[in-house]
Amino acid sequence: MAAKLLEGKLFAAKIREEAGRRASELKEKTGVTPGLAVIIVGENPASQVYVRNKHKACTELGFHSESVELPEDTTLEQLLAEIKRLNNAPEIHGILVQLPLPKALQKYESEVLEAISPLKDVDGFHPVNVGRLVTGQKALVPCTPNGCIKMLELAGIPIEGANAVVIGRSNIVGKPMLNLLLSRNATVTICHSRTKNLAEVTSKADILVAAVGKPGFVTADMVKSGATVIDVGINRIAPKKLVGDVDFEAVKEVAGAITPVPGGVGLLTIAMLMMNTVDAAEMQLNG
Ligand code: NDP
Repeated sequence: MAAKLLEGKLFAAKIREEAGRRASELKEKTGVTPGLAVIIVGENPASQVYVRNKHKACTELGFHSESVELPEDTTLEQLLAEIKRLNNAPEIHGILVQLPLPKALQKYESEVLEAISPLKDVDGFHPVNVGRLVTGQKALVPCTPNGCIKMLELAGIPIEGANAVVIGRSNIVGKPMLNLLLSRNATVTICHSRTKNLAEVTSKADILVAAVGKPGFVTADMVKSGATVIDVGINRIAPKKLVGDVDFEAVKEVAGAITPVPGGVGLLTIAMLMMNTVDAAEMQLNG
Protein backbone atom coordinates (compact mmCIF):
# COMPACT_ATOMS: atom_id res chain seq x y z
CA MET A 1 0.00 0.00 0.00
CA ALA A 2 1.42 3.36 -1.05
CA ALA A 3 -0.87 5.68 0.90
CA LYS A 4 -0.61 6.64 4.55
CA LEU A 5 -3.70 5.41 6.39
CA LEU A 6 -5.53 8.18 8.23
CA GLU A 7 -7.15 6.19 11.02
CA GLY A 8 -10.16 7.85 12.58
CA LYS A 9 -9.61 6.43 16.05
CA LEU A 10 -6.23 8.18 16.46
CA PHE A 11 -7.63 11.58 15.49
CA ALA A 12 -10.90 11.06 17.39
CA ALA A 13 -8.89 10.31 20.55
CA LYS A 14 -6.88 13.52 20.12
CA ILE A 15 -10.04 15.58 19.52
CA ARG A 16 -11.77 14.08 22.57
CA GLU A 17 -8.68 14.71 24.67
CA GLU A 18 -8.66 18.37 23.62
CA ALA A 19 -12.41 18.71 24.26
CA GLY A 20 -12.01 17.10 27.71
CA ARG A 21 -9.06 19.34 28.59
CA ARG A 22 -10.90 22.50 27.50
CA ALA A 23 -13.99 21.41 29.46
CA SER A 24 -11.90 20.91 32.63
CA GLU A 25 -10.30 24.34 32.19
CA LEU A 26 -13.72 25.91 31.73
CA LYS A 27 -15.02 24.21 34.86
CA GLU A 28 -12.00 25.34 36.86
CA LYS A 29 -12.29 28.96 35.71
CA THR A 30 -16.07 29.41 35.76
CA GLY A 31 -17.62 26.44 37.58
CA VAL A 32 -19.55 25.59 34.41
CA THR A 33 -19.78 22.01 33.09
CA PRO A 34 -20.59 21.80 29.35
CA GLY A 35 -24.02 20.23 28.85
CA LEU A 36 -25.49 18.54 25.77
CA ALA A 37 -29.15 17.66 25.21
CA VAL A 38 -30.14 15.25 22.46
CA ILE A 39 -33.79 15.05 21.43
CA ILE A 40 -34.95 11.89 19.72
CA VAL A 41 -38.47 11.53 18.39
CA GLY A 42 -39.82 8.04 17.68
CA GLU A 43 -38.05 4.70 17.67
CA ASN A 44 -35.59 4.60 14.77
CA PRO A 45 -33.09 1.90 15.92
CA ALA A 46 -30.07 3.49 14.16
CA SER A 47 -30.88 6.86 15.75
CA GLN A 48 -31.18 5.22 19.17
CA VAL A 49 -27.64 3.82 18.77
CA TYR A 50 -26.29 7.28 17.82
CA VAL A 51 -28.02 8.88 20.80
CA ARG A 52 -26.58 6.26 23.19
CA ASN A 53 -23.09 6.83 21.74
CA LYS A 54 -23.42 10.59 22.22
CA HIS A 55 -24.53 10.10 25.82
CA LYS A 56 -21.58 7.75 26.43
CA ALA A 57 -19.10 10.27 24.97
CA CYS A 58 -20.52 12.99 27.25
CA THR A 59 -20.24 10.77 30.32
CA GLU A 60 -16.65 9.80 29.49
CA LEU A 61 -15.59 13.45 29.24
CA GLY A 62 -17.53 14.51 32.35
CA PHE A 63 -20.08 16.59 30.42
CA HIS A 64 -23.65 17.03 31.60
CA SER A 65 -25.87 14.99 29.27
CA GLU A 66 -29.61 14.86 28.79
CA SER A 67 -31.44 12.54 26.38
CA VAL A 68 -35.00 13.61 25.67
CA GLU A 69 -37.00 10.73 24.24
CA LEU A 70 -40.31 11.76 22.70
CA PRO A 71 -42.95 9.38 21.28
CA GLU A 72 -43.46 8.85 17.54
CA ASP A 73 -46.75 10.81 17.61
CA THR A 74 -45.20 13.97 19.11
CA THR A 75 -46.72 17.08 17.55
CA LEU A 76 -44.73 19.98 16.15
CA GLU A 77 -45.94 22.17 19.03
CA GLN A 78 -44.74 19.65 21.63
CA LEU A 79 -41.34 19.36 19.95
CA LEU A 80 -40.95 23.13 19.70
CA ALA A 81 -41.94 23.49 23.38
CA GLU A 82 -39.19 21.01 24.34
CA ILE A 83 -36.62 22.93 22.29
CA LYS A 84 -37.76 26.18 23.95
CA ARG A 85 -37.32 24.63 27.40
CA LEU A 86 -33.77 23.54 26.51
CA ASN A 87 -32.98 26.94 24.93
CA ASN A 88 -33.72 28.45 28.35
CA ALA A 89 -31.99 25.76 30.45
CA PRO A 90 -28.72 27.19 31.83
CA GLU A 91 -27.13 23.75 32.34
CA ILE A 92 -27.56 22.94 28.61
CA HIS A 93 -25.09 24.50 26.14
CA GLY A 94 -25.73 22.31 23.11
CA ILE A 95 -29.00 21.03 21.65
CA LEU A 96 -29.25 18.45 18.91
CA VAL A 97 -32.39 17.06 17.33
CA GLN A 98 -31.60 13.59 16.00
CA LEU A 99 -32.53 13.25 12.32
CA PRO A 100 -34.42 11.84 10.52
CA LEU A 101 -37.61 12.97 12.24
CA PRO A 102 -40.66 10.67 12.00
CA LYS A 103 -42.54 11.00 8.69
CA ALA A 104 -45.29 13.30 10.04
CA LEU A 105 -42.71 15.86 11.21
CA GLN A 106 -40.29 15.71 8.29
CA LYS A 107 -41.91 18.61 6.43
CA TYR A 108 -41.20 20.81 9.47
CA GLU A 109 -37.50 19.95 9.67
CA SER A 110 -36.30 23.51 8.89
CA GLU A 111 -38.73 24.99 11.40
CA VAL A 112 -37.51 22.57 14.06
CA LEU A 113 -33.82 23.21 13.41
CA GLU A 114 -34.35 26.97 13.31
CA ALA A 115 -36.09 26.86 16.70
CA ILE A 116 -32.79 25.88 18.34
CA SER A 117 -30.93 28.91 19.66
CA PRO A 118 -27.98 29.55 17.27
CA LEU A 119 -25.71 29.69 20.34
CA LYS A 120 -26.74 26.13 21.28
CA ASP A 121 -26.87 24.75 17.71
CA VAL A 122 -24.05 22.20 18.05
CA ASP A 123 -24.99 20.55 14.75
CA GLY A 124 -24.29 23.85 12.99
CA PHE A 125 -27.44 23.60 10.84
CA HIS A 126 -29.10 26.89 11.87
CA PRO A 127 -29.02 29.50 9.06
CA VAL A 128 -27.30 31.93 11.45
CA ASN A 129 -24.38 29.53 11.86
CA VAL A 130 -24.37 28.73 8.13
CA GLY A 131 -24.18 32.47 7.38
CA ARG A 132 -21.46 32.99 9.97
CA LEU A 133 -19.37 30.21 8.45
CA VAL A 134 -19.80 31.59 4.93
CA THR A 135 -18.85 35.10 6.03
CA GLY A 136 -15.83 33.92 8.01
CA GLN A 137 -17.21 34.67 11.49
CA LYS A 138 -16.99 32.42 14.55
CA ALA A 139 -19.64 29.76 14.07
CA LEU A 140 -20.79 26.36 15.25
CA VAL A 141 -19.90 24.17 12.26
CA PRO A 142 -21.38 20.77 11.22
CA CYS A 143 -19.41 18.04 12.98
CA THR A 144 -18.46 15.78 10.06
CA PRO A 145 -16.77 18.35 7.77
CA ASN A 146 -15.28 20.10 10.80
CA GLY A 147 -13.83 16.74 11.88
CA CYS A 148 -12.28 16.25 8.42
CA ILE A 149 -10.54 19.63 8.68
CA LYS A 150 -9.34 18.91 12.20
CA MET A 151 -7.94 15.57 10.98
CA LEU A 152 -6.07 17.25 8.10
CA GLU A 153 -4.60 19.76 10.54
CA LEU A 154 -3.60 17.11 13.09
CA ALA A 155 -2.05 14.99 10.30
CA GLY A 156 -0.01 17.99 9.16
CA ILE A 157 -1.48 17.94 5.65
CA PRO A 158 -1.20 21.46 4.19
CA ILE A 159 -4.51 23.07 3.27
CA GLU A 160 -3.35 26.59 2.39
CA GLY A 161 -2.77 26.84 -1.34
CA ALA A 162 -3.88 23.25 -1.92
CA ASN A 163 -6.16 22.42 -4.80
CA ALA A 164 -9.16 20.89 -3.00
CA VAL A 165 -12.07 19.15 -4.71
CA VAL A 166 -15.26 18.21 -2.86
CA ILE A 167 -17.70 15.79 -4.49
CA GLY A 168 -21.19 16.41 -3.06
CA ARG A 169 -22.97 19.67 -2.22
CA SER A 170 -25.22 18.76 0.72
CA ASN A 171 -25.84 21.24 3.52
CA ILE A 172 -24.50 18.73 6.03
CA VAL A 173 -21.19 17.83 4.39
CA GLY A 174 -20.34 19.28 0.97
CA LYS A 175 -21.15 22.98 1.41
CA PRO A 176 -19.64 23.40 4.89
CA MET A 177 -16.57 21.48 3.67
CA LEU A 178 -16.23 23.94 0.79
CA ASN A 179 -16.37 26.90 3.17
CA LEU A 180 -14.01 25.38 5.74
CA LEU A 181 -11.40 24.64 3.07
CA LEU A 182 -11.83 28.09 1.54
CA SER A 183 -11.44 29.80 4.92
CA ARG A 184 -8.11 27.97 5.25
CA ASN A 185 -6.99 29.33 1.87
CA ALA A 186 -7.39 26.24 -0.29
CA THR A 187 -8.52 26.70 -3.88
CA VAL A 188 -11.79 24.79 -3.83
CA THR A 189 -13.96 23.20 -6.50
CA ILE A 190 -17.27 21.62 -5.55
CA CYS A 191 -18.75 18.92 -7.79
CA HIS A 192 -22.21 17.36 -7.96
CA SER A 193 -24.38 15.16 -10.16
CA ARG A 194 -24.38 17.68 -13.04
CA THR A 195 -20.62 18.23 -13.08
CA LYS A 196 -19.10 17.56 -16.50
CA ASN A 197 -15.85 15.62 -16.87
CA LEU A 198 -15.74 14.81 -13.16
CA ALA A 199 -12.59 12.66 -13.38
CA GLU A 200 -10.74 15.51 -15.09
CA VAL A 201 -11.61 17.81 -12.17
CA THR A 202 -10.90 15.33 -9.37
CA SER A 203 -7.59 14.22 -10.85
CA LYS A 204 -6.20 17.72 -10.25
CA ALA A 205 -6.99 17.62 -6.53
CA ASP A 206 -4.32 17.67 -3.84
CA ILE A 207 -7.14 17.07 -1.36
CA LEU A 208 -10.15 15.09 -2.59
CA VAL A 209 -13.24 14.78 -0.39
CA ALA A 210 -15.94 12.30 -1.40
CA ALA A 211 -19.42 12.82 0.09
CA VAL A 212 -21.65 11.20 -2.50
CA GLY A 213 -23.32 8.18 -0.91
CA LYS A 214 -22.36 5.73 -3.68
CA PRO A 215 -20.17 2.70 -2.94
CA GLY A 216 -16.79 2.72 -4.71
CA PHE A 217 -17.68 5.88 -6.68
CA VAL A 218 -14.15 7.33 -6.67
CA THR A 219 -11.87 5.08 -8.72
CA ALA A 220 -8.08 5.17 -9.00
CA ASP A 221 -8.10 6.96 -12.37
CA MET A 222 -9.91 9.91 -10.70
CA VAL A 223 -7.13 10.47 -8.18
CA LYS A 224 -3.86 12.36 -8.59
CA SER A 225 -0.75 10.51 -7.44
CA GLY A 226 0.07 11.48 -3.85
CA ALA A 227 -3.30 13.16 -3.18
CA THR A 228 -5.02 13.08 0.21
CA VAL A 229 -8.36 11.28 -0.17
CA ILE A 230 -11.04 11.75 2.48
CA ASP A 231 -13.93 9.34 2.22
CA VAL A 232 -17.03 10.65 4.01
CA GLY A 233 -19.39 8.11 2.47
CA ILE A 234 -21.04 5.43 4.57
CA ASN A 235 -22.82 2.84 2.44
CA ARG A 236 -24.27 -0.39 3.76
CA ILE A 237 -23.82 -3.01 1.03
CA ALA A 238 -24.74 -6.05 3.21
CA PRO A 239 -26.27 -6.38 6.69
CA LYS A 240 -22.83 -6.24 8.33
CA LYS A 241 -20.75 -4.58 5.61
CA LEU A 242 -20.12 -0.85 5.34
CA VAL A 243 -18.07 0.71 2.56
CA GLY A 244 -17.23 4.28 1.60
CA ASP A 245 -17.53 6.25 -1.61
CA VAL A 246 -13.95 5.45 -2.57
CA ASP A 247 -12.67 2.24 -4.15
CA PHE A 248 -10.25 1.90 -1.25
CA GLU A 249 -8.18 -1.06 -2.51
CA ALA A 250 -7.33 0.60 -5.83
CA VAL A 251 -7.12 4.22 -4.65
CA LYS A 252 -4.75 3.46 -1.76
CA GLU A 253 -2.13 2.49 -4.36
CA VAL A 254 -2.29 5.97 -5.93
CA ALA A 255 -3.09 8.33 -3.04
CA GLY A 256 -0.58 9.80 -0.60
CA ALA A 257 -2.98 9.51 2.34
CA ILE A 258 -6.44 8.00 2.65
CA THR A 259 -9.19 7.47 5.22
CA PRO A 260 -10.67 3.94 5.50
CA VAL A 261 -14.38 3.10 5.82
CA PRO A 262 -15.25 1.96 8.39
CA GLY A 263 -12.72 3.38 10.85
CA GLY A 264 -12.17 6.77 9.24
CA VAL A 265 -14.19 9.99 9.19
CA GLY A 266 -17.20 8.32 10.85
CA LEU A 267 -15.33 8.17 14.15
CA LEU A 268 -14.61 11.92 14.15
CA THR A 269 -18.21 13.12 14.17
CA ILE A 270 -19.08 12.48 17.83
CA ALA A 271 -15.65 13.71 18.94
CA MET A 272 -16.32 16.99 17.11
CA LEU A 273 -19.77 17.17 18.71
CA MET A 274 -18.01 17.21 22.09
CA MET A 275 -15.72 19.98 20.84
CA ASN A 276 -18.71 21.97 19.53
CA THR A 277 -20.40 21.62 22.94
CA VAL A 278 -17.35 23.14 24.63
CA ASP A 279 -17.24 25.90 21.97
CA ALA A 280 -20.94 26.59 22.57
CA ALA A 281 -20.46 26.77 26.35
CA GLU A 282 -17.58 29.22 25.92
CA MET A 283 -19.55 31.33 23.43
CA GLN A 284 -22.50 31.51 25.85
CA LEU A 285 -20.31 32.48 28.79
CA ASN A 286 -18.52 35.15 26.77
CA GLY A 287 -21.86 36.66 25.68
P1 NDP B 1 -26.57 13.73 -0.05
O1 NDP B 1 -27.32 12.62 -0.68
O2 NDP B 1 -27.31 14.82 0.62
O3 NDP B 1 -25.63 14.38 -1.16
C1 NDP B 1 -24.94 13.62 -2.09
C2 NDP B 1 -24.24 14.53 -3.05
O4 NDP B 1 -23.57 13.71 -4.01
C3 NDP B 1 -25.18 15.45 -3.83
O5 NDP B 1 -24.69 16.77 -3.83
C4 NDP B 1 -25.19 14.86 -5.23
O6 NDP B 1 -25.32 15.81 -6.27
C5 NDP B 1 -23.81 14.23 -5.30
N1 NDP B 1 -23.79 13.20 -6.32
C6 NDP B 1 -24.66 12.16 -6.46
N2 NDP B 1 -24.34 11.46 -7.57
C7 NDP B 1 -23.27 12.06 -8.13
C8 NDP B 1 -22.50 11.82 -9.29
N3 NDP B 1 -22.77 10.79 -10.11
N4 NDP B 1 -21.47 12.64 -9.56
C9 NDP B 1 -21.17 13.67 -8.74
N5 NDP B 1 -21.88 13.96 -7.62
C10 NDP B 1 -22.91 13.16 -7.33
O7 NDP B 1 -25.53 13.04 0.94
P2 NDP B 1 -24.77 13.58 2.25
O8 NDP B 1 -23.88 14.71 1.91
O9 NDP B 1 -25.73 13.71 3.37
O10 NDP B 1 -23.90 12.28 2.57
C11 NDP B 1 -22.92 11.80 1.67
C12 NDP B 1 -22.34 10.51 2.23
O11 NDP B 1 -21.70 10.80 3.46
C13 NDP B 1 -23.38 9.44 2.55
O12 NDP B 1 -22.82 8.18 2.28
C14 NDP B 1 -23.61 9.59 4.04
O13 NDP B 1 -24.01 8.38 4.65
C15 NDP B 1 -22.23 10.00 4.50
N6 NDP B 1 -22.22 10.78 5.74
C16 NDP B 1 -21.36 10.40 6.71
C17 NDP B 1 -21.31 11.08 7.91
C18 NDP B 1 -20.35 10.64 8.95
O14 NDP B 1 -19.32 10.12 8.66
N7 NDP B 1 -20.60 10.83 10.19
C19 NDP B 1 -22.19 12.21 8.18
C20 NDP B 1 -22.98 12.62 7.05
C21 NDP B 1 -23.00 11.89 5.88
P3 NDP B 1 -26.67 16.69 -6.51
O15 NDP B 1 -26.64 17.74 -5.43
O16 NDP B 1 -26.51 17.23 -7.86
O17 NDP B 1 -27.82 15.74 -6.34
